[in-house]
Amino acid sequence: MSFDSILGQDKTVRRLRALVETGRVPPAMIFHGPPGVGKFPAALEFAKAVNCSHAEHVEKKAPPPPPDENDLFAAAAPAPEPEAPAAPARVHSDLSDSCGMCLSCLQAASGAHPDIRVVDTAFQAALLGEDESANLKIDTMREVTRWAQQKPLLSPWKVFIVRDAEALVTQAQNALLKTLEEPPPGTLVVLTVSRKTSLLSTILSRSCLIEFGALPQDAVRRVLEAQGAPAAEAASLAALSSGSLEKAAEAAAFLKRVSALRPGDPARAFKFAAGLPRDSHKAREEVKTLLDMLLARARLAWRAAEGPGKARLTALLRRTLDLRRMADRNVSYLLLLETALLESERAGIKLEDLIRTT
Ligand SMILES: [Zn+2]
Repeated sequence: MSFDSILGQDKTVRRLRALVETGRVPPAMIFHGPPGVGKFPAALEFAKAVNCSHAEHVEKKAPPPPPDENDLFAAAAPAPEPEAPAAPARVHSDLSDSCGMCLSCLQAASGAHPDIRVVDTAFQAALLGEDESANLKIDTMREVTRWAQQKPLLSPWKVFIVRDAEALVTQAQNALLKTLEEPPPGTLVVLTVSRKTSLLSTILSRSCLIEFGALPQDAVRRVLEAQGAPAAEAASLAALSSGSLEKAAEAAAFLKRVSALRPGDPARAFKFAAGLPRDSHKAREEVKTLLDMLLARARLAWRAAEGPGKARLTALLRRTLDLRRMADRNVSYLLLLETALLESERAGIKLEDLIRTT
């Protein structure tokens, strides 16, 4: 894996490569953009690239143990075999990317690099010996500040990737600020965030902002196919993804649930609502996905319709757009879901139609 694995963010990746190549790495960076567009994988690749030594790592063989001189019965040691001349180590010439074959790259790829730490709620739970919490706490960031003062063990840079930094509570952000104000030499902090307004202005002003946009539909399709999705499914999920892999995964879970419902079952809308995730944030996101799918389906039907059918679909599109806007506010998502399903069935679009791709 290298920067080549980051699809659909060409301009941003060019900028990151230039920073690696020139060695002008800012000590604090914010990777900002919608969820599921590759900010975290790009942060991992960036950490790998700045720490790459560009020379192939060759395992050294351990020498055989010396014979025990007190053992009279020991067989005479065989004459050492002449060693084959070692092949010269390969050198990777692209200084803007990681080589994937040096010791640092191998450790980064295995997730065990001593100088690259991912700070997220799962890491925090292990660190503090607590259940996973939704917030990143001050104790965790104090620990990060303490590590930041230590020298890197193996590589030029000690990298901290704070994943989904909107989870940082204010006190934790203040604790981190100390490191950003006086970064110890060789320390790099990368925050990935989808809502930069959740960060203190003092953090924003001290960090280099790297923007990530929504992914092109084709990039989402290629990633899904690379993950093993059949071509037709990858294409329809990509069409529903709004350029976000996270959204595509939600749509996949959603399609699975819709396809389990019996077509024509009068209670299917109720059954679908009953199967929404328990977590209210996730449930709301799923209702938004459903509304997006309804909109996409209604647009397709509208293009093909004529006469009074077209007028009905125009009204449905307007109404669904209103419901979609309300879904971003604090309106009951169950009410939105029921209204949307009722109105779309009246206009001739059924729940099971949503999983058709044509
Ligand atoms: Zn390397």
